[in-house]
This record gives sequence, structure tokens and C-alpha cells, in this order.
Amino acid sequence: MSDGNARREIAGGRFALFRPEFLVFLPALALALLWYGPGGLALASACALPTVYLSTRQPTQKTPAIELPRDGVTDLPLRAAAIAALDAAFAAAPNTGRTTACLVAGIDEADDLVRKFGEGALTQALQRTAERLSAALRGADLVVRLDGARFGVALAPVRRADLESVIQLAARLQSAAEAPLSIDAATVYLRISVGFCLANRSPGPSGVAILSAAESAMDEAQRCGPGAIRAFSAEVQAAIAARALLQDEVEDALEDGMILPYFQPQLSNDTGAVSGFEALARWMHPKRGLLPPSEFLHAIETAGLSSRLSEVVLFHSFSALKAWDRAGLKVPAVAVNFSREELRNPKLPEKLKWELDRFDLEPERLVVEVLESVVAESANDVIVRNIAALAQLGCGIDLDDFGTGHASIASIRRFDVDRIKIDRSFVTRVDTDKGQQEMVAAILSMAERLGLATLAEGVETIGEHAMLAQLGCSHVQGFGIARPMPFEGTIGWLERHRTKLQATPSVGRRTG
Ligand code: C2E
Ligand code: CA
Ligand code: CA
Repeated sequence: MSDGNARREIAGGRFALFRPEFLVFLPALALALLWYGPGGLALASACALPTVYLSTRQPTQKTPAIELPRDGVTDLPLRAAAIAALDAAFAAAPNTGRTTACLVAGIDEADDLVRKFGEGALTQALQRTAERLSAALRGADLVVRLDGARFGVALAPVRRADLESVIQLAARLQSAAEAPLSIDAATVYLRISVGFCLANRSPGPSGVAILSAAESAMDEAQRCGPGAIRAFSAEVQAAIAARALLQDEVEDALEDGMILPYFQPQLSNDTGAVSGFEALARWMHPKRGLLPPSEFLHAIETAGLSSRLSEVVLFHSFSALKAWDRAGLKVPAVAVNFSREELRNPKLPEKLKWELDRFDLEPERLVVEVLESVVAESANDVIVRNIAALAQLGCGIDLDDFGTGHASIASIRRFDVDRIKIDRSFVTRVDTDKGQQEMVAAILSMAERLGLATLAEGVETIGEHAMLAQLGCSHVQGFGIARPMPFEGTIGWLERHRTKLQATPSVGRRTG
């Protein structure tokens, strides 16, 4: 476009400064002024103007809907502003010698927050996080709201944005945003993950490229989280490609016995004895090592193999029960997780009965874990009927992740639940946080009234274990007792636990 043409366009009103599509770039232009002075403004304009110009030149284009330059919840600028600012930083770098980085910070387990406290809580968390992130950065850095519970940061160009300094910045953002939050008279601990990409690691010298690389690093951080930090690197790129490959490999892996359960013990607080093991699926991947379910459950569901997974996990769980029996080790039951899809299978009770018979096991040796969210949402008659049939048969029914799924008391009764598994989010810091104690105490007294047993999940410390026993929770499970282990590890662990029990009084309620 010649200068003359551009002037004509502007004079003719086709290119007005305050067109909505231009407003998107205003924060970036203002920042460019701040970062580089008037020269920078020219550079940033050089990036932003052609984009806006092109968007105004679409011959068939109707007047576009007004694109709000700010997010309605947090009042932060949006993605396009970060892209424009980063574009400007790339364009200016050869002249200024200054470099940038893009960070993406996100609230971990935001879905849980909504399930537990409602949409209003997420709004509040987003607003506080926006304020805290902005306060932890320099005024020249740009914070924007991205999709979901995520924020982008375009770092104001500096002489050195190296790995070490950006890791430190990421940690600073985390600790600023992780301060406790008061929601509905409860104290909520947000966990924040951060992914970032340095300009010299970006797959391309553009705002779009560096932001999407930082988002990939963030995906990786959240997969490893909560509260993780990850830099974009060739390995992150490879991990993303590898996950796509997993989808192709998952069926063979199931058939070849590469996917099988690990076992995590559950203890009775009354006696300290093992009351069961939970079976948790693992994939022994020949190239990538041991993969947790978060890496492959989605691939299994997409491939329609949920039912096959539960057959495999059941087979190994029943074999383990027989082996513990033969070794004279007392393990009353194994708890198996059933997906929503599997619970919809009308033949499930029949299938389980047949498997139990085949292994010559009493039905009470199997505990069926059903997510609270499945019970809460279930208008599905097949699921109701299946769980009733399994309870009737004599299997235990555990309500998993209790406290995150809004199940009504009526539905808990209707589903013949025997025990609730108190979600890890209530158990964390129960020994030091009064609010957590009150929550757990309320859940325990409700369970007692309904005649239900209780199991606290995710018990990580001796302090948490002792407090739960004192509050009257009947069972515990968590890293503080033992991490999930392969079957071969269970025999030794059970023997050591038995010896320990004989030697010392338990922390349970009936000690002393
Ligand atoms: P879940 O049923 O809530 O299982 C508990 C998860 O918490 C497990 O993660 C376990 O390793 C982890 N965990 C146990 N103790 C602690 C602790 O003290 N601290 C922390 N931070 N975590 C702890 P895992 O094995 O990665 O499993 C994740 C989820 O995958 C399970 O959550 C369950 O929903 C699902 N899953 C696992 N195995 C199967 C399966 O065979 N079938 C189906 N459908 N889902 C499964
Ligand atoms: Ca479970
Ligand atoms: Ca759980």
C-alpha cells in the first residue's frame, strides 16, 4: 500500500483509530510507548496497523461485532493484546537488543472449585488472581486474560530474559497468586501452574508462536501439577507429539498386558490394619516409562476401551486377592474405579458376578468406586439399577471424590452407598487449618447420621492422619501411608506393616 493510498484510506474514514478491531491493539501500543519511547510506538504500529488494515479491507465484511478489548470478569485486556505486544517486542529486538518472554499462569483444578463452591467462586478466584498477578509484575509488563482460568503475561523487553530469571519470576507469580482466598466463609487454597517460553526458544518470531508455545508448556505443567512450572522446550514439543501417538498404541498396550493396576493400601483407623487396596491403572510404556491415568484415560475413553480397561484391572485385582490369601496376608477387599461409561453397561452386574465366581471370591471382597459426580448427575436408570444390583450382590460401594460432586443426601441413600471417600482437597492441612477441620467434621457427622463409613483420601502427613483419626474418620489412604505400588511390592509392604503393627500401638481411636 502506498503512503498516498493509506492517507486516502484514513481520510476516507475507512480506517478510524477507534474502530473496535483497533481498540484491541491500544494496550500494546501504549506499552510500546512505555517500553521503547516514540520509536517503539512506530514499530508496534508497523505490526498492528497492517493487521487492522487488512481486516478493514475485506470487501464483503460487514461491520464486525464490537470486540471488547477487556475481559468482563477481570477487566484485563485479552489475548490479541498480548500477541500484538509480543509481535512488537520481536520486531523491535534487532534494534534494541532487548528480549522478551511469554508466561501463562493458570488456576489448577478450576473445575473442582466450581463443583465445590459454584461459578461465583471461580469469578472471585479469577479476579483475585488477576489482581495478584498484576501486582507481582512491573507496570510495563502486560497481563491478559486467556481462555478458561488462564492468564498470559507479555514481559516488557529487557536486556536479559534468561531461563533462570524467568523461572524466578514464575515462582514469584505462583507464590503471589497462591495466597489463601476466603470463599463462603471457607478458606480456599488455589494452586497455580505456570508455563513459559523464552523468545529464543519460540518456534517462530511472532506473538502467536510464543504464546501458543507458552500455552503448551502450561498444559505440560498442569499435567505434572498441581503447582508446577514448565519451560517450553523441544522435549515439551516432543511430549505433545508423543501423546498423540499414545492414542494409536493404547489398544495394543491393553492387549499386551502393558496396562495394569498398582495398589495403594487403605488402613482402618480403629485397628491400624489394612482394610483394602485401591487398584489404580498404570501403563508401563516401553519408551516413556510409567504413565499415570491422567496420560492415557482419555485415549482409552476415546477409543471406546473403558470396558476392556475395567476387565483388565478386575482380573489383576482378583488375582492379587487370591495371591494375598495364599500368602496368609489379610486383605479384606480391593476397590476398583468404574467409569461412567462402564456403569452404563446393563450387563455389568452379571459380568462382575461371573468374574467373582470364576475366582471363587465372595462379593464383599470387591468395592466398586463410583464418582460422586456420577451419582449426583445420574438420572440414568441403568446406572441406578446397576449400583443397586451390585450392592444387593454384596459388593461394597464407595462414593469417590466426595465433596466435589454435589450429590444429594437422597441420591446417596438411593444408591446404597456404604462409604464416602472424602476428597483430598478437604484433607490437605486438616491438622493446621480450622476451616478444613470444620468441613471434615461436618462431613463425618453427616456420614455418621446416615450410617456410612468414611475414608479420607490423599493423607500425606502424620499430622493429617492423626487429626483424621481424632475426628472419627474410619479409614485413611494416601502417600503418608504408602504410594501406589506394583503387586510385587505389596507382599513385602504388608509383611512390614504387620510387623510394625505388632510392635507399636496404632494411632487409631482405640489406642491406649
Ligand atoms: P482417584 O480415584 O481419586 O484416585 C486417587 C488418586 O490420588 C490416584 O491418582 C492416587 O495415586 C493419588 N493419590 C493417592 N494418595 C495421594 C496423596 O497422598 N497425595 C496426592 N497428591 N495424591 C494421592 P492416579 O493413580 O494418578 O489416578 C488418578 C485418577 O484416575 C483416579 O483418581 C481415578 O479417577 C482414575 N483411575 C485410576 N485408575 C482407574 C481405572 O482403573 N479405571 C478408571 N475408570 N479410572 C481410573
Ligand atoms: Ca478412586
Ligand atoms: Ca478419589
